[in-house]
Amino acid sequence: MMMADIATAFPAIKILRDEPLAHYTHTKTGGPADYLAFPTNVQETKSLLAYANQISLPVTVVGNASNLIVRDGGIRGLVMILTQMAAITTAGNTVTAEAGAALITTTQVAQAHALSGLEFAAGIPGSVGGAIFMNAGAYGGEISTVAVAAEVLTPEGEIRTLNQTELDFGYRHSSIQDYHDIVLTATFALTPGDGAAIQAQMDDLNARRAAKQPLELPSCGSVFKRPVGHYTGQLIQEAGLQGLKWGGAQVSTKHAGFIVNIDHATATDYLELIHHIQAVILEKDGVTLETEVRIIGEEPTTQK
Ligand SMILES: Cc1cc2nc3c(=O)[nH]c(=O)nc-3n(C[C@H](O)[C@H](O)[C@H](O)COP(=O)(O)OP(=O)(O)OC[C@H]3O[C@@H](n4cnc5c(N)ncnc54)[C@H](O)[C@@H]3O)c2cc1C
Repeated sequence: MMMADIATAFPAIKILRDEPLAHYTHTKTGGPADYLAFPTNVQETKSLLAYANQISLPVTVVGNASNLIVRDGGIRGLVMILTQMAAITTAGNTVTAEAGAALITTTQVAQAHALSGLEFAAGIPGSVGGAIFMNAGAYGGEISTVAVAAEVLTPEGEIRTLNQTELDFGYRHSSIQDYHDIVLTATFALTPGDGAAIQAQMDDLNARRAAKQPLELPSCGSVFKRPVGHYTGQLIQEAGLQGLKWGGAQVSTKHAGFIVNIDHATATDYLELIHHIQAVILEKDGVTLETEVRIIGEEPTTQK
């Protein structure tokens, strides 16, 4: 039996064809997805995955695209953006959020219930799914310390619940990266606190972030992981690379660990600048800078 095109097979789900991902990424760069779907609940996500598996369509999951560079050739197959799946509930001292919920909103819900533990994440612009995937962290806090469970969809389409041990958190790492599961929900165990004190802590961290980071320009946050024994920003500054422009991308003059899009940058501009920085720092300091930002998709085809 001929299977229908995935967009035709699911008329009730918003699915765009050949949609530029630059419209969604925080860097405002990136080529098109063959199909870009916006499931609104677990059942839709599960059905899309099952159908894509049946017709051998590769599947990529994206959250808030705040830690992502999509190459200019785009992504073949189906891309699912989960930000329409964003319910947040509380029960006792726990907060459970669907994967597409904004982490920032989740911290605000925790604060509204006078629950402490997520303050560190008040300014991290990712989704809950992306935060679990990356074990996002800031100002001494990390998702691993509060995330006690995640419900996932395995690549084969089974729903499983992973506990903290199974999530195997490390520095900007979780088991989701190894097994290619799709995070559906995450549960955070928090402690009762004082709502005003929690808010004050979040405000303080957000002020510190705004003072140090180029939040006024598109970026993907810290491009590189922190190398043991060094500070990335300092290495880049000392190598004289701060402010360097590459096409429309620039090493931020405010925070050398960020690359900002100052003038219609392409993903290629970003990637070439990243490679240049890595080569200079390796040569000068003997330090390998590993990317924290996830780089996905295909190279653009060169036109004659
Ligand atoms: C201005 C700025 C400041 C930032 N500050 C910080 C910071 O302080 N600390 C920090 O840790 N990060 C920071 N980041 C980076 C980013 O916000 C985090 O890494 C965040 O956790 C990424 O979430 P996301 O939803 O945007 O993920 P995306 O960028 O959409 O995706 C990142 C990876 O996660 C995967 N993924 C996303 N959702 C799911 C899911 N539901 N299931 C399975 N895989 C999934 C994607 O496939 C991709 O590989 C910052 C970024 C910006 C732009």
